[in-house]
Amino acid sequence: MSEKEVRVRFAPSPTGFVHVGSLRTALFNYLFARHFKGKFVIRIEDTDRTRIVDGAVENLINVLKKLGIDYDEGPMKEGDYGPYYQSERLSIYKKYCDELIENGYAYYAFETPEELEEMKKMQQLEGKQTAYDRRARNLTKEEVNENLNSGKPFVVRLKVPLNQEIKFTDAVKGIIKFDSNQVDDQVLLKSDGFPTYHLANVIDDHEMKITHIIRGEEWITSVPKHILLYNAFGWDIPQMAHVPLLLNPDKSKLSKRQGDVAVEDFINKGYLKEALINFVALLGWHPSEKDGVVREIFSMDELISNFTIDRVQSSGAVFNIDKLNWMNNEYIKNYDLDNLFDLSLPYFENSGLDLNDTEKLKFILNTIRVYLDRLDMIPEKIKIFTKENFEIPDEFKELIYNENSLKVFKTLKDKVENSDELTVDGFKQMLNDTGKETGVKGKNLFKPVRIALTGEEHGPELPNIAVIYGKEKLSSLLSKYL
Ligand code: GLU
Repeated sequence: MSEKEVRVRFAPSPTGFVHVGSLRTALFNYLFARHFKGKFVIRIEDTDRTRIVDGAVENLINVLKKLGIDYDEGPMKEGDYGPYYQSERLSIYKKYCDELIENGYAYYAFETPEELEEMKKMQQLEGKQTAYDRRARNLTKEEVNENLNSGKPFVVRLKVPLNQEIKFTDAVKGIIKFDSNQVDDQVLLKSDGFPTYHLANVIDDHEMKITHIIRGEEWITSVPKHILLYNAFGWDIPQMAHVPLLLNPDKSKLSKRQGDVAVEDFINKGYLKEALINFVALLGWHPSEKDGVVREIFSMDELISNFTIDRVQSSGAVFNIDKLNWMNNEYIKNYDLDNLFDLSLPYFENSGLDLNDTEKLKFILNTIRVYLDRLDMIPEKIKIFTKENFEIPDEFKELIYNENSLKVFKTLKDKVENSDELTVDGFKQMLNDTGKETGVKGKNLFKPVRIALTGEEHGPELPNIAVIYGKEKLSSLLSKYL
């Protein structure tokens, strides 16, 4: 018999921007599906109507697409198990919810919000844990019918069995046990007729034939409720894998306060999709080392072929922006120049450079890419080529205005003016020849020239700077000191 097809899902609630944690969940599911040649489903969990943000789904799909994560079924890609928006599946939830009530696994409750508030207050006063006190379990059938007939608003709650151990084996965390007495009689169906996350999630995972649930660790506390529901329906429980929390370097939970968490912001700052995917994949996962070497750079295809759940760590994963910057720089340095140029063009706008002179812009990009952690650093890094009339800093004046340096400038200027076209190799040669002819060598030669040409002590390769400036600007700059 053939193995069951792997089907995994990413089930976001469309509440705005895409959090890096969501991207990590989506990516792990995607990698898992592609690794096992299964299906990756996107399901929109939009049953909490108060949290919905217009355009959030389109934005999410767009972000995933930009990063190269495609899906097999979901919004705008109907499959056999749709609709893929929970808000369009209400009748399914209602049907199953009725079945739960019918079979004694769930019950109607009619408390008003005020009554629930009062209950909570009393529990707080008594120093007890706040939870629904299960009072509606005691309603008689007649009382329930009477309330329903009189149109009293109601919710449906899960009838959690008492004194039971609820146990499951998580593929990442191992065996996890819960005491059912600690599990709340969770609302399953709200008074507005919408299901809660728990009911809809379990029903959909079953209906959509999900085989593995890969999601963030923060959902573990929901598992006992879900297991009770699976059991009540008599359904198989998908294999669960709860992936570790994302942490700040100080080990606190990753939050907006300490920096960016929105994937859109990372993209806008000029992190390349390959770097983002590579970095996010390593948040809690790592393939086994080969010959003791820890490898960090992986293409999407390599991630797919290496990804397995048993290599997901159970402890928190630190989000280290320095590592992301390092990784992005690695990708920028090694990227195909034409492709990098296409991505970089927006960052050259307003630079004062001629945007039609693509050859020159590419040369500039190639010169500075080694210094770029992000593409949005381009404007700052090209200033050195575009600034007009810089002053020589006081500390360097002596170095510039001395006999040797002036000899160098004069000789070099003549060579530049007498050259045909300026090239990197050509300029290197001119510098060497200038050294030979003037007897000025090494640092005494290069440093004054660099400062004379840029006003700065450090920067890109001198011959590249010379080529970017061109003959005219070079000779006029050198003449300034003579
Ligand atoms: N809707 C939940 C979320 O926003 C899904 C959790 C799950 O994957 O079960 O993350």
